[in-house]
Amino acid sequence: MANSSREIVQERTSLSNVYSEIVLRHAPWSISKAGVLNLCGKQYLHKYVEKLTEGKKSDSSRVGVVAHAVLEAGLQTPGIDLRAVLHEQIDKHQLSREETIACSARMSAMEDFITRIGAFKESNGVTAEFIEHQLAISPQHTAVPFKVTARTPPELWQGELVWLGEGRLKTAEGSAPFPPLRAHGAYVVVPSGPFEGAHEVVSVHDDVLTVLVPPVFPGGAPAPGATFEGGVAVKPLLRGVIDHAMRTNDDFLIVLDHKSGKKKPIGEHSQQFYAYMALAVVNFPWARGVQSGIHYIGEPKVDWFPRFDGKPGAWTRDEIFSRVIPWLEQFIGRTAVKLGLVDAGTPRAETGWQCSYCGFSDHCEAGRDEIAKRARRKGATNI
Ligand code: SF4
Repeated sequence: MANSSREIVQERTSLSNVYSEIVLRHAPWSISKAGVLNLCGKQYLHKYVEKLTEGKKSDSSRVGVVAHAVLEAGLQTPGIDLRAVLHEQIDKHQLSREETIACSARMSAMEDFITRIGAFKESNGVTAEFIEHQLAISPQHTAVPFKVTARTPPELWQGELVWLGEGRLKTAEGSAPFPPLRAHGAYVVVPSGPFEGAHEVVSVHDDVLTVLVPPVFPGGAPAPGATFEGGVAVKPLLRGVIDHAMRTNDDFLIVLDHKSGKKKPIGEHSQQFYAYMALAVVNFPWARGVQSGIHYIGEPKVDWFPRFDGKPGAWTRDEIFSRVIPWLEQFIGRTAVKLGLVDAGTPRAETGWQCSYCGFSDHCEAGRDEIAKRARRKGATNI
């Protein structure tokens, strides 16, 4: 008899060594973060490790950000004046004249979508809605907070911390098991008092956490060996933000991704859908299955992602655990190959079409040459 999803979850939860140390150290992952690494290691280094400030975003992504904000407001607050929201967003993001025209041109399509969603909710007996909903899972494929803050419920972290000085922390003797779930990375949580805040840490060696960003202590750093109340929460393996999801009255989850760009074959978005499914089944234990699709702003119908057998419809919970979770392990696991070069500070500048959309070409001579070469080629074609 096939394993039930509950057994599969338990079996997988006990696997703590599925992901390599380097992969966990670079977590939390998202599909877009892994996508950047796959495209160009140098861009990944600048964006996610050095955290350099990105150059101006492309026009199309700025238009997409505003369109998302308008849809979000319309779904959150039915009946809201969408045109007023649009103007607010245009001001907030300081869109150019051309970008403003592009956004305004999509307005009636967005109004139409919100009307259609209202009808869909009624006919499918939607019992709950999740808008711009943040989800995360741990390396053990359990639900964890997307971001830990000082307000995160204490049951998600535990232990008393000892400040060792020089950015190093340890749990106090006799406290809860440490490191939690054999994590290679964790968040340090200090819920109150002079050290209030949460700080990301990257590595665990000999049961000692090394803090990535040294905490800012308002009263000055504590003396080495000082004890303070706090704890450690497992750092997520994978995170994602679902644009819009709905729970139907038969406990299926409908997940919609809004896109303002050109329509592409649905299969080209499969990684995104797999990630949504993995995040959803772990975080929504009630979900019997997930059906996902893309709402291209301006298109009259949602483009639904098919099942693994090519048929239309939802993926069941067991199908997601038996097919998507193993995919996730491989997908995230493969990043280890390039991460070695990133950690050594020698990732390759992988030039191509991606250079034209890269916000770090100012830091990349090979990328600037590529952009110039492409511009010359385009110019020659135009003549
Ligand atoms: S400009 Fe191109 S080669 Fe350079 S970092 Fe960006 S994507 Fe990589």
